[in-house]
Amino acid sequence: MSGVERIVRGYALRNAVKHGGKARPESVVSMIMSDHPELRPQARAIMEAARSIVEEVNRLTLEEQKRLLESEYSELLEDRVRVERGLTLPPLPGAVEGRVVVRFAPNPDFYIHLGNARPAIVCSEYARIYKGRMILRFEDTDPRTKTPLVEAYEAIREDLRWLGVSWHEEYVQSMRLEIFYSVMREALSRGCAYVDTCGDEGKKLLASGSYCGDRDRSVEWQLERFEDMLRGVYGEGEAVVRVKTDPKHPNPSVRDWVALRIIDTARHPHPLVGSRYIVWPTYNYAVSVDDHLMGVSHVIRGREHEVNTEKQLYVYKCMGWEPPVFIHTGRLKLEGFILSKSKIRDLLSKSPQEFLGYDDPRFGTIAALRRRGILAEAIREAIMGVGIKETDATISWANLASVNRRLLDARADRIMFTANPVEHVYEGECVDAEIPYHPERPQKRTIRVCGGDKIFIDRGDIELKEVRLMGMANVKIENGKATMISRDLDYARKKKLQIIQWVPARGAVKLTIYKPEGLKLHKIKGYAEPALKEYKEDSRLQLVRFGFIRIDKIVEEEYTAILTHE
Ligand code: GLU
Repeated sequence: MSGVERIVRGYALRNAVKHGGKARPESVVSMIMSDHPELRPQARAIMEAARSIVEEVNRLTLEEQKRLLESEYSELLEDRVRVERGLTLPPLPGAVEGRVVVRFAPNPDFYIHLGNARPAIVCSEYARIYKGRMILRFEDTDPRTKTPLVEAYEAIREDLRWLGVSWHEEYVQSMRLEIFYSVMREALSRGCAYVDTCGDEGKKLLASGSYCGDRDRSVEWQLERFEDMLRGVYGEGEAVVRVKTDPKHPNPSVRDWVALRIIDTARHPHPLVGSRYIVWPTYNYAVSVDDHLMGVSHVIRGREHEVNTEKQLYVYKCMGWEPPVFIHTGRLKLEGFILSKSKIRDLLSKSPQEFLGYDDPRFGTIAALRRRGILAEAIREAIMGVGIKETDATISWANLASVNRRLLDARADRIMFTANPVEHVYEGECVDAEIPYHPERPQKRTIRVCGGDKIFIDRGDIELKEVRLMGMANVKIENGKATMISRDLDYARKKKLQIIQWVPARGAVKLTIYKPEGLKLHKIKGYAEPALKEYKEDSRLQLVRFGFIRIDKIVEEEYTAILTHE
């Protein structure tokens, strides 16, 4: 399901639940257009999607609609239900309804991970609660060391849509360089920034509590040198623009920090603007200017940015701007997963053949969690649980998996799979085994098995000797034969027979399951019953007595899935 389809489905469910089970495509689209202005250009396609999705949703019972809305779209629930489920955030300090402007500002040099998702989810929630604005801003002004990945921009948007994060405005910093230059001209005129042409020496001087003599030169000199920088008079490192702070600041990194520097984009072209610019703002400078110009009222980011906040305040002071409210959250870890960009990059470049890509299920990127079968809703629930806490937090895998299991359990179809299939010959009369797709839904599939037919039974179940084959019959297992005793359920109950899954050999589907475990990825090969063929890639299923999976790939009738969790 695409991000847009998900949104349409959510609103259709909400509309249906509100109106006794029947949604109207027009109301659905108009709600979407008002909550998601960024989708307005796609209105026509959305109307089309809404027609078919509403039809589908209207076919469900009201109970089913309610359950789906709660389990998958809790961000669309009425506030009352949200409070009950603990999906609320503490009040935002100093927030005024209608005036809250927040932003998520990823660096598109890689895909986003669970830790990055926190400010994204939390900020968009606050924008929703306070009827404010949410901004998505790509911070891509370091073509040299944090070279943007051209595919990451769209991948990040896609991840955010999937997470249910919506935004009202979007900016890309590399498209705004002229703005950063013109603000700098103003800062230079105000005497609170300077061009340092001392090169390495300038850095050394600051390290020792002194500074490059250029700091004391006239405003005219500064402005001329700045234009020289822009004209390409200087090479990399020969001139930088610094914000005047305190050359003796106890933290050397704060001392007259660099706001703009020269990057040889002929050698390190930027993926979006190539080598058009050679003077590039640093993160700290660009972020201060943009947060101000975009009217950001609250900055929510990790505690690792505390020193940056201190640095950025010098820009506000210089320009006479009112600073936003800064909120620093603790670090967030996902137990047992690799979240760090550099670590993931390192692993992928050192041993690409051992990983399935940046979305390998062993990583904590959003794409990886999605590929593994974790629901956006489970991630939202986990993140809302830590909210804007200042202390470090670890989301345990057991917790995330248990939330996910609760959500999936209500909707994932059950399919039989044998991980260690051992062929047995069935002996007995013909039986039409009827197996429900889900214990709470009436739909069933029928598998016909007659004497002499072969079925697969899991190796581990053979020693049980007498079992109930799910939906089929009670049998005795012996010497490669499964001999029918009866179909009587009471008999199975009385004898406390284990109900086991089984797979008819005819029409059995080859299924390979990747089971992630720490840094290992085990491969389990087995057979699933023919009903597996009813599902497409990206379906989430529960394999009876095995665990939850997400179908990852289907190639010529061979299925590959990832074990989400047990
Ligand atoms: N681009 C910065 C980052 O990804 C944003 C930090 C901030 O929110 O200011 O860490």
